Amino acid sequence: ETLARIEAVEEKVHSYLHILATEAEAAAQKVDEKIAAGDSIALLEGIPIAIKDNMCMKGVPTTCGSRILENFVPPYESTVTGKLKTAGAVLLGKTNLDEFAMGSSTENSAYALTCNPWDLSRVPGGSSGGSAAAVAAEECVVALGSDTGGSIRQPASFCGVVGLKPTYGLVSRFGLVAFASSLDQIGPFGRTVEDTAILLGAIAGHDPADSTSLQVKIPDYTQYLTPELPKNPKLKIGVITETFGEGLSDEVKTAVQGAIEQLGAIGAEIVEISCPRFRYGLPAYYIIAPSEASSNLARYDAVRYGKRNEEADNLLSMYQKTRAEGFGAEVKRRIMVGTYTLSAGYYDAYYLKAQKVRTLIKQDFEKAFETVDLLVCPTAPTTAFKAGEKTDDPLSMYLSDLTTVPVSLAGLPALNIPCGFDAQGLPIGMQLIANVLREDQLLQTAYAYE
Ligand code: GLN
Repeated sequence: ETLARIEAVEEKVHSYLHILATEAEAAAQKVDEKIAAGDSIALLEGIPIAIKDNMCMKGVPTTCGSRILENFVPPYESTVTGKLKTAGAVLLGKTNLDEFAMGSSTENSAYALTCNPWDLSRVPGGSSGGSAAAVAAEECVVALGSDTGGSIRQPASFCGVVGLKPTYGLVSRFGLVAFASSLDQIGPFGRTVEDTAILLGAIAGHDPADSTSLQVKIPDYTQYLTPELPKNPKLKIGVITETFGEGLSDEVKTAVQGAIEQLGAIGAEIVEISCPRFRYGLPAYYIIAPSEASSNLARYDAVRYGKRNEEADNLLSMYQKTRAEGFGAEVKRRIMVGTYTLSAGYYDAYYLKAQKVRTLIKQDFEKAFETVDLLVCPTAPTTAFKAGEKTDDPLSMYLSDLTTVPVSLAGLPALNIPCGFDAQGLPIGMQLIANVLREDQLLQTAYAYE
């Protein structure tokens, strides 16, 4: 059924870069046979799942939306896709993304322009735009994305689906192509909170192959999905005052405020909370993330991975020509910014300072969580914008990450839950943020709200 749906709408939406139709049909067939034989099947068995194309699957092309990885076929499996395969899920294909997950609209992909299923002239958000669009257009049941500074939550908001960025370290990054290693996290997209909770449970857990992976017991997240919020004591939700100021569209503001009232109506206690240093998140992020990216992307040297320029007659020229042809404009911009901010003489003024700001932002959150259980704010300042509208203005593109980035810097879990539509019928999203490892509270609240 899902393959037929892809057949019908993919031509318009372009969620996928690679569809594993034959493999998916064979896997589905096996599940059908089991059912016919009267065998019981596990929860995820036969469920069609889409994977963002920056997660490696053994023997399946993994491009990261980049020309430099055009011919790259990983010889190993990422931990998350391995877990899903073991659970019997049908991995349907690899979805489009901004090159190396750098962007907020999926327009930085070297291969395809993904359209927002709600209005094809608009972007799906990014960088996990392909996964968000595939879930919204019913081209899969659930999908995996990655979130470094908002890349699950912002496209979830633009496409009107649920998207969760887990606590840093909850989900293994083994086999995820690195962008900014201290921020990258894999997480689930779903059309419902329940689907999202099930997928999170399937991918979370300690992995010795990822040194930043946390040693924690993973609960069954679905046990928290109850129609009512706890009454005694009530859940306390803090509205982040600073996020309702400048730059926020009126329609988003009204919808999110309405949703917050609704959270009050279903039994949460709503208070105002100030996170004064929240607004320094964006400048700090756009120093830290490019710094880490410039180091991580040094591995694309035409020797170890993917593409190689064959005309170069010496080693240096091979590096230069391959990287000049292989990387797109945004990736080059980040490599240059990051190389600059890490260089001797500028390191203290930029990178070190940004790291100090990161600590202050973390402290703001820690202080807030002394008095509240959850925080709430808009996921993105606007609804989905038109394709091409921001491509010549990187700074305005970066502003789409205003409220998602501080959460990433602090390593906290957060999710997007749809909370209304603007006058043009485009989805609006609300971001719920929890303390470290309190995915249970996020899912519980989102489920009761939904
Ligand atoms: N839009 C942000 C960026 O361009 C976040 C991307 C992400 O989370 N991968 O860096």
